[in-house]
Amino acid sequence: MSFQKPYLKEYEQAGVNWDIKLEPTALPSLLFRSSQKNPHKTALIFYGHEVSYAQLAACVKRAASVFYDIGVCKGDRIAVMLPNCPDFVIAYYAILSLGGIVVNTNPMYVEREIEHQVNDSGSNMIITLNDLYFRVKNIRDNTALEKVILTGFAGKPETMPDDTLWFPDFYAKDRPEPPKIDINPEEDLAVLQYTGGTTGVSKGAMLTHFNLYANSQQTDHFFIGDEKKQLTLAVLPFFHVYGMSSCMNLAMAAGTTLILVPRFDPAEIAKIIKDYKPTFFPGVPTMFIALLNHPDFKDATNVMVYNSGGAPMPVDVLLKFEKLLEGTESEIGEGYGLSESSPTTHCNPIFGDGKPGSIGIPFPGTDAAIVNSESGDFLPIGEVGELVIKGPQVMKGYWNMPEQTEKTLRNGFLFTGDMGKMDEDGYFYIVDRKKDMIIASGYNIYPREIEEVLFEHPKVQEVVVAGVPDTYRGETVKAFVVLKQGETCTGEELIDFCKERLAPYKVPKKVEFRDELPKTTVGKLLRRKLIEEEKAKLEQE
Ligand code: AMP
Repeated sequence: MSFQKPYLKEYEQAGVNWDIKLEPTALPSLLFRSSQKNPHKTALIFYGHEVSYAQLAACVKRAASVFYDIGVCKGDRIAVMLPNCPDFVIAYYAILSLGGIVVNTNPMYVEREIEHQVNDSGSNMIITLNDLYFRVKNIRDNTALEKVILTGFAGKPETMPDDTLWFPDFYAKDRPEPPKIDINPEEDLAVLQYTGGTTGVSKGAMLTHFNLYANSQQTDHFFIGDEKKQLTLAVLPFFHVYGMSSCMNLAMAAGTTLILVPRFDPAEIAKIIKDYKPTFFPGVPTMFIALLNHPDFKDATNVMVYNSGGAPMPVDVLLKFEKLLEGTESEIGEGYGLSESSPTTHCNPIFGDGKPGSIGIPFPGTDAAIVNSESGDFLPIGEVGELVIKGPQVMKGYWNMPEQTEKTLRNGFLFTGDMGKMDEDGYFYIVDRKKDMIIASGYNIYPREIEEVLFEHPKVQEVVVAGVPDTYRGETVKAFVVLKQGETCTGEELIDFCKERLAPYKVPKKVEFRDELPKTTVGKLLRRKLIEEEKAKLEQE
């Protein structure tokens, strides 16, 4: 089989360039350019407090000047462990403008996880909230952390913990301009994005300035129409690659206003949508499911573009969402990406119709194919194999992990670890993660197919299907279900529902009802955690 690119037709028909020109550019220049173009435009809104592009650019330069004075050098790794807030944006671009490398660190991490990430990345500084300082304090002696920088929403504490600095002091006053550091965008790293939280060992994806710049430009080019880029609802955390790129970097490149929201609460989001009328809302499926089931959301849907990504959007949920938006100017589309590709590689085009259940077509300048995982041979249209990607957004490799890098970057492609197929129009479909495939009595079963069926059941709000250990079948199919509020249901009822719609070997043998399902902080359902819990339970029996 040769490499086929049917998706190019979609671009041609819509008159949109697939092949975009990208100059090697360092990431902070996105923000500085937007501030020169439109200094008075609001860059950030945080609980009603507004920061203009000119103010933001000035704060970034002042903070960079202090970072330089306290010893930040090109190539230094600095852990940023913050929720969405103006200080995240200031610290991020200040560190990058000095050639420093941001190590995105989840503020929900416990001490063991912070210690691992700080040591693996070799970070010598960390910036976090003063409320989280106790976790850093406990691990400080086991790491090479030289400086701990704190910030907080309630102002500077009267007494700062020993040997810590207060970040808002960095940008409070005018300072001499920081020195100009030579950055080679294609070679120099901007971010270490740790990934693997939902699948196993945590690895630092090395994203260069150019990788991240390219992805912001690809997204900007794909989402044509300036009116869509006015106001972004940024509730996806910036420490996750999707929030960092699709909210923060994209907004800074396009000169968009960002509404920063530190945590997802459907009632609060519905209120923000009503009050501010954002034009763009990138989110993960669990957010859209929660909104769909929240009474306040019904009359607060006036966002122009909702973009779902980060995890599969159940088709039934997508169709219900589309129904809710019928007759309005709003639309919802699904995209796909991963940390290793900065992240977005595919999206349903807003210049076309899109296809429910599909992740869309490859982004501008991005090639994708379905291959045999072992041989790397291209597979024919419609066949299931591993999705591979080639494009300017693909990482340089994994930090200090040459073997993992070699396994993942092969034959000039990024092997995503996702199983999928491509149709004749060049639209891609993710069947499942390679690792999540269930093998029961020798049959290959993709949990997503069963989840899609259960989502059609009127009483089901959320569901995760997983392969749990079974002495007879090797693995067996189990569904973990959250019912809609006020509903009752039996496992039998759901099993019968599946029997009518699935081959017998795919029907769950077990159903467990839960009040909620474990999720990552970005809102992805943690299938692995449920499997581990199940294994632990079986070991105790
Ligand atoms: P992360 O690196 O944490 O962003 O996780 C990336 C993984 O999320 C991908 O490899 C996919 O398994 C999954 N993912 C992201 N977007 C989608 C989507 N639209 N449909 C299915 N899986 C997705």
